[in-house]
Amino acid sequence: MSPSIERPRRTAPVSHRILVGLACCGCGASGGPSTTAAGSAADLVLRGGAVYTVDATRSWASAIAVRDGRILYVGADSLPSGMIGPKTELVELAGQMVLPGFQDAHVHPLDSGVDLGECKLDDLTTAVEIVDTIRAYAAAHPDLKWVRGAGWQLPVFPDGNPSKTLLDQAVPDRPAFFYAADGHSAWVNSMALALAKMTRATPDPPNGRIERDRRTHEPSGTLREDAAELVADLLPERTDAELSAGLERAEKEANRFGITTVFEADAREPELKTYAAADRAGKLTFRVIAASHVGEAAGDSLITRLEDWRKRYTATHVHPIAAKIFADGVIEARTAALLAPYLDRPGDSGSPNYDSTTLTRLAVDLDRAGFQIHVHAIGDRAIRMTLDALEQARRMNGVRDSRHGIAHLELIDPADIPRFRRLGVIANFQPLWANGDEYLTKLTEPALGPARSRWLYPIASVARTGAVVAAGSDWSVSSLNPLDGIEMGITHREPDSPKQKPWHPDERVDLATMIPMYTINAAYANHQERETGSIEVGKAADLVILDRNLFAVPPEQIHYAQVVRTILEGRTVYQRGGH
Ligand SMILES: [Zn+2]
Repeated sequence: MSPSIERPRRTAPVSHRILVGLACCGCGASGGPSTTAAGSAADLVLRGGAVYTVDATRSWASAIAVRDGRILYVGADSLPSGMIGPKTELVELAGQMVLPGFQDAHVHPLDSGVDLGECKLDDLTTAVEIVDTIRAYAAAHPDLKWVRGAGWQLPVFPDGNPSKTLLDQAVPDRPAFFYAADGHSAWVNSMALALAKMTRATPDPPNGRIERDRRTHEPSGTLREDAAELVADLLPERTDAELSAGLERAEKEANRFGITTVFEADAREPELKTYAAADRAGKLTFRVIAASHVGEAAGDSLITRLEDWRKRYTATHVHPIAAKIFADGVIEARTAALLAPYLDRPGDSGSPNYDSTTLTRLAVDLDRAGFQIHVHAIGDRAIRMTLDALEQARRMNGVRDSRHGIAHLELIDPADIPRFRRLGVIANFQPLWANGDEYLTKLTEPALGPARSRWLYPIASVARTGAVVAAGSDWSVSSLNPLDGIEMGITHREPDSPKQKPWHPDERVDLATMIPMYTINAAYANHQERETGSIEVGKAADLVILDRNLFAVPPEQIHYAQVVRTILEGRTVYQRGGH
């Protein structure tokens, strides 16, 4: 329950408690004059709080001073004289908690922000509600050529497999396209299938499956993985204005939950362009570390493209330093690559998106070009293949500060658990998924049986090895609120479900493990730990103020905590009850 995790390696420890003078290089200044000169007053002072710094010793403080976007002082309430000047904003916290701004280590902000402006199905729990919602949305938007949206939950439909005829009831007159909440399946109506010229004669694409009517073999309306792209390719391109509006919605949502840095887990050029443009216009209210989409392309043309994007779209707060590879799909759609067959699909253990030679070549090439490799891997076979490929890259190119990571990590073979630490691979978990919901109980565990299910989401086991563990929401797959993730990593229960049995109690972790997963460890995963991730003198003032001390409330009440204020580089980007 209380694994001690290894601290990420800190390349530039900041040891001074007061930043002297106006230096803001993040190096921590030494010597020099005292800080009492009039010019050294802080812009902002937070006082009387429970400040959990998440520094190397996990120290506590009660006051923070900020100037020019940097942390000037961390310590007791008795600040050095002169630090509070006539223009200083002084905030009395009265016991409220301050943490480093949260970092989401795997999220899809732009897509999710765009989705928020379309037909959203995430919270609906019956097919009737879903059809009614889509029908109402279509009626309210008569001008749309396509009715599109996202968020339907697989467990609502038998086998996670909704039919085109059901969607035809809601949208009979236009093509309709809806991604599932996990983004790995799509639900389309008859007109969409007709436009894509998909019939019983259409073969499944290499990394996808067209669900079919058992009797007629006609496509039945659900498309898995790359089969969805056969229809998605026909959707109208998002305009720049739609993307910017989506980004603004995402920024508001993230800041509202105390998030100051996001790892954009799968960006293509239009997304990178949108982030960079927003930052260059001074409008970005979170930092973006981005993973560029790899897809089919391989070899020199891939590296050239990704290097070009990295150069073109790097901005002050935008860093396209990573490359995203999908190694497999998801267990609930039976598209994850497993070491042994799915129990309900004899002989079928799912197939990885790349054979191991291709995956290894990709890893070696990307690593050599200095990219951080970020891999979606869910099944135990995909995870092992990825670890093998990353190990090979290390062998071929030598050990460097690569910080490659694997996200999702749903089913890890126990033999592979020590390899994360050994290979320096970041374990990027989504703690919101480890809670015994219907995805697990109805769609996942029955396909694996109890012995293999023991190794679903082994967060505590991996953390105990000393590997760096980071956390992300995968929003809009699940809640963007880090407090939900922190709570569920500790309780393994849905919020507000006191009667629910904790799922896999042995793999729960404690609060002192969860907070770093959303702060310093995520910062390390983002190559940002010298700048952010903890509250230390010299670092950027990325902070979140919570209305209560999380260590003082029972774990099942963590999600009741409210963000009072979110601060990015000393600037307030969210204030409760404010703008
Ligand atoms: Zn994702």
